[in-house]
Amino acid sequence: MTSPKSFSPEIDPWSSDLPADQAKLFKEFGLEEISPAMRKRFESSHLFRKRIVLAHRDLIPWIKAADEKKPVAIMSGIKPSGEFHLGSKQTAEEIVFFQQAFGAKVYYCIADLEAQVDNGLTLEESRQNAIGNVADLLALGLDADNAYIYRQSREPRVTSTAYRLSRRVTPKMLEAIYGEKPISLYMAVLVQMGDIMLPQAEDFGGPKHVLVPVGLDQDPHIRLCRDLAFKEKLVLPSATYHKFIKNLKGEAKMSKRDPDAMIWLSEDLDSVRRKFMRALTGGRATAEEQRRIGGDIANCVAYDIFGTHFEHDEKKLAKRYDDCTSGKILCGECKTQMAEQMLDWLKKHQEKRARFMKKAESIIAKQD
Ligand code: SF4
Repeated sequence: MTSPKSFSPEIDPWSSDLPADQAKLFKEFGLEEISPAMRKRFESSHLFRKRIVLAHRDLIPWIKAADEKKPVAIMSGIKPSGEFHLGSKQTAEEIVFFQQAFGAKVYYCIADLEAQVDNGLTLEESRQNAIGNVADLLALGLDADNAYIYRQSREPRVTSTAYRLSRRVTPKMLEAIYGEKPISLYMAVLVQMGDIMLPQAEDFGGPKHVLVPVGLDQDPHIRLCRDLAFKEKLVLPSATYHKFIKNLKGEAKMSKRDPDAMIWLSEDLDSVRRKFMRALTGGRATAEEQRRIGGDIANCVAYDIFGTHFEHDEKKLAKRYDDCTSGKILCGECKTQMAEQMLDWLKKHQEKRARFMKKAESIIAKQD
């Protein structure tokens, strides 16, 4: 059984700050690294190949159950406070990978109750945003026929589970995990626990292994949920943990709270180009210096974003790395090339997304 550990102020699910040393925290919280054998098995996914998914909790029992053709589920969702950005894309790609690789059913929550308490959005505003979010998800490859997409406010099984779970926690316990927060955010936590337990509801076939792909900042939720699942006699949820990609300003985590630092999947392409061309690079003080000693690629946010999201051919990525670090290419030319490739992907994605809007509307309308 996993007990919620004392809250580390370095990990706060409502903060946009990143923990200083991710590897140290993986160890501290008892996460398992993705093994070479697992990485090899999942090498068709750039997320595993490129070590974007770094660690897990109990992924092995989830895989074993899936291999034995037992029903398994993937649980994820989005707070519909805006459009999909590159961070949402990354999580969606992981969900789609596991859905396709194992035929696992996806439970996807539109966290409109959380958006209400955390962002002050009305349920109707969330409903509107959710249509675009679902269209993005479908355009990224989610098979809606093997998924249950729902709004928290319209799913009584989630809210009634949250009420039931509230008997098992005290404000002190939540404060120890999350720090002192308004009661509304504690309620949002319990509703999220209800979301993660939903695939194990009797209506959905009862207890089963559920995989939750998250960023490290979400681990307090996972640990608490595993503790509560144990008390509820459910299967403890499994989780995978991905690394954070810096935003355009070089800050540690993509956050919807700073739109200028983000790239949105539905954003006007000229705006994306402008933002990307202003992204932090590892360029040297002068062209002469860069030609002489090469770029500081380890601190190049543009390369980090491009390599994570838009270039999955590792040979091409390695060539760009060499060209940069040897001083063969300068930042202006390099960024222009990366921007063109990124815009080409975004243009195609936006065309696909537009084709999925009607389907997304009908999925959301099912719960009206
Ligand atoms: Fe980044 Fe390209 Fe400049 Fe290298 S040359 S620091 S990869 S933008």
